[in-house]
Amino acid sequence: MPQAFVDLPELIGTLDLGEATLRWAARDYGGVVHHPPTAVLRPANAADISTVIRYAHRHGLQVVPRGQGHSTSGQAQTPGGVVVDMNQLNDIHEVRPDRVIVDAGARWSDVLRATLPHGLTPPVLTDYLELSVGGTLSVGGLGGASHHHGAQTDNVLCLDVVAPSGAIVSCGPDDNREVFDAVRAGRGRHGIITRATLRLVPAPNTVTWHKLHYDTVDHLVADQQHLVNAGVFDYVEGQLKIRDGQRVAELEAVTFTGVSVGHGRLDGLAFRDVDSRTTSFWDFVNRLADGEPLLRDVGLWDSPHPWCNMLLPSNAAVDLLRHIEGELGADLYSDFGLVLAYPLRTDRISTPRLSRPDDEIVFLVAALRYAPADAPQVVAAMQAANDVLVAKVLQAGGRLYLEPLP
Ligand SMILES: Cc1cc2nc3c(=O)[nH]c(=O)nc-3n(C[C@H](O)[C@H](O)[C@H](O)COP(=O)(O)OP(=O)(O)OC[C@H]3O[C@@H](n4cnc5c(N)ncnc54)[C@H](O)[C@@H]3O)c2cc1C
Repeated sequence: MPQAFVDLPELIGTLDLGEATLRWAARDYGGVVHHPPTAVLRPANAADISTVIRYAHRHGLQVVPRGQGHSTSGQAQTPGGVVVDMNQLNDIHEVRPDRVIVDAGARWSDVLRATLPHGLTPPVLTDYLELSVGGTLSVGGLGGASHHHGAQTDNVLCLDVVAPSGAIVSCGPDDNREVFDAVRAGRGRHGIITRATLRLVPAPNTVTWHKLHYDTVDHLVADQQHLVNAGVFDYVEGQLKIRDGQRVAELEAVTFTGVSVGHGRLDGLAFRDVDSRTTSFWDFVNRLADGEPLLRDVGLWDSPHPWCNMLLPSNAAVDLLRHIEGELGADLYSDFGLVLAYPLRTDRISTPRLSRPDDEIVFLVAALRYAPADAPQVVAAMQAANDVLVAKVLQAGGRLYLEPLP
């Protein structure tokens, strides 16, 4: 063991200093930022994390947790510090009628596999379920149900945290509130979540899923706002993309009932055509599972992903999406990229560290770009395109979502 860790108190888990592990910890889904740490901790429990945090504090090392490493700008990396790999702390402890208690390294798909047999689900899910609970609670966690229920961080009942001091603390809305508010959307820099008690609501067996297609982004945005204000669908998202040479502007509106009752709720909307289907709740929430093997096949899963996630006031949404329509295409997105754009109600979000624009309705806009491997000039062009989007969003009073905290 290098000099730096010789006096580290004994751990039950392991501290890995191997080259391959350090290289692994210096890579994330973004594939653009690479900061190797000095060591990777694989903790057996919260006490191991506490021991390493206290030790690192004495030696001036930063300690940063890593969930599934699906960040895109090095958020779970620390140059020369210690990365805490949360993957093995992934037990699902208990499912009760209104809550589930899970380790922070569990993925949302693990949570659902435990709760759905009881007819229960967390109220807000991210589009992709292979993210860790700790990873999304450290950014917010937004999805198509957020216009009803806020962020995932707004649906947490209790957290076990290893604080930056090394103290092991339990916190919640009425208990150690300052820790609770610091760690939710705290990017792992204000404490490491080891266990979470998450709110559960009844899960439907089946859902009715409408995909509405639009001729203009103006109509898409207007209808999204209308539906979110009316609150008549359980889930509302939207996206822009080019497929088979055609521009697609799509609004997804889903009712969590198997009965096909949605059409009345679509009256008065300005879509061109609609594709409606009924499917199981699991197939709906796990709909991105097929994307990973597809992207792996074409070499775009492990290649760079210069993604950009923003929250902007509703009155700026149309302008930004018109600009995005102009840049869509293989050069800046590949044939597989897309832009998510959907509205959220800020009165449903109360997480203090989840920075959002000052507006009743804000749009989450995510430019999801896929660069080929070994093509730095393509990555640079995508990053330059992101810089333009960010400048527009900030000028309009928007915020960046997921970026490292200053
Ligand atoms: C394919 C894909 C789909 C996505 N879909 C959505 C979506 O629908 N909605 C949405 O909101 N986001 C979405 N995201 C973004 C995602 O929520 C964040 O990037 C999230 O942080 C990733 O979780 P992770 O487990 O990979 O975390 P990591 O990338 O490993 O870590 C992310 C951050 O969380 C911190 N962290 C990790 N574990 C802990 C812990 N236990 N305690 C405290 N801090 C911790 C890290 O230090 C880091 O700052 C998506 C990302 C991808 C790649």
